[in-house]
Amino acid sequence: MKYVLGNKTEGDGKHSPKGIIVLEDTTEYISYAPKEEIKAQDRRPFDLLVIINPKLKKRSNRSALFFEGCLSVDGFRAVVERHLDVEVTGFGRDGQPIKVDASGWQARILQHECDHLDGTLYVDKMVPRTFRTVQNLDLPLAEGCPKLGAR
Ligand SMILES: [Zn+2]
Repeated sequence: MKYVLGNKTEGDGKHSPKGIIVLEDTTEYISYAPKEEIKAQDRRPFDLLVIINPKLKKRSNRSALFFEGCLSVDGFRAVVERHLDVEVTGFGRDGQPIKVDASGWQARILQHECDHLDGTLYVDKMVPRTFRTVQNLDLPLAEGCPKLGAR
């Protein structure tokens, strides 16, 4: 996603970071998206979040399909199915344990970022035949593709 970073750092000590995710979604970023999309994606602003050694698990069986992008594959989008409710535990900037319960778009960003730490990009999980350039984002989905939204 345009507004988030995924980074992997190598550590050798027991307490050194193995991975760090950094994410935020601001009112300004969100303001560039169409209103219906913001609503459908359950996208709400949240402050800069830094999680060291994040561990993610789903909190429900709800999922949703939406287009997703990534700076590592700039200029493209594809539909990815993601959990709608996740819990991420890890350590904060201050070294203290933290737990983040997220849903909607924030849950998607967390899954996207945690995937980066495993070397997984959204293109590894995308719904086949939905990959396209940003310029072609609004073209109809290919026949047989699942509809966007929660399922
Ligand atoms: Zn990414």
